[in-house]
Amino acid sequence: MDECIFCRIVKHEAPAEVVFESDSIIAFLDINPLNFGHVLVVPKVHSNDFLDIPIDLLDELVHVTRKITKAIVDSLSPDGFNIFSNNGKAAGQSVFHFHFHVTPRYKSDNFKFIINLKKYKDGEMSNYAQRIRRSIS
Ligand SMILES: [Zn+2]
Repeated sequence: MDECIFCRIVKHEAPAEVVFESDSIIAFLDINPLNFGHVLVVPKVHSNDFLDIPIDLLDELVHVTRKITKAIVDSLSPDGFNIFSNNGKAAGQSVFHFHFHVTPRYKSDNFKFIINLKKYKDGEMSNYAQRIRRSIS
């Protein structure tokens, strides 16, 4: 019935290299790391994505993510770090149980994000801003 891999890790039914655990949050190493020491910070309650997670839990998750990031910086001495979250298949989400990634970065790691930055045409930028502003409640 419950096939979510992160829910199984939360219940300790699936193996994971856990680095932090509280009543509401668990953090463990990504088995396919961008760099070694790449951690996933996961709320124990199943939420599909960033918009689905209860706001109080999100606050707590952000605090724990910062704690984990500090520990990665202190223990691994990377040159930098990325914190990110993929939401939706189009954005590269593969496990539909919300989580933050924290990955150490090194000057020599030679990652290349393939991105196509767009240019707004005249008036388009204010149009997009207006649409978003109107939807903020
Ligand atoms: Zn889950």
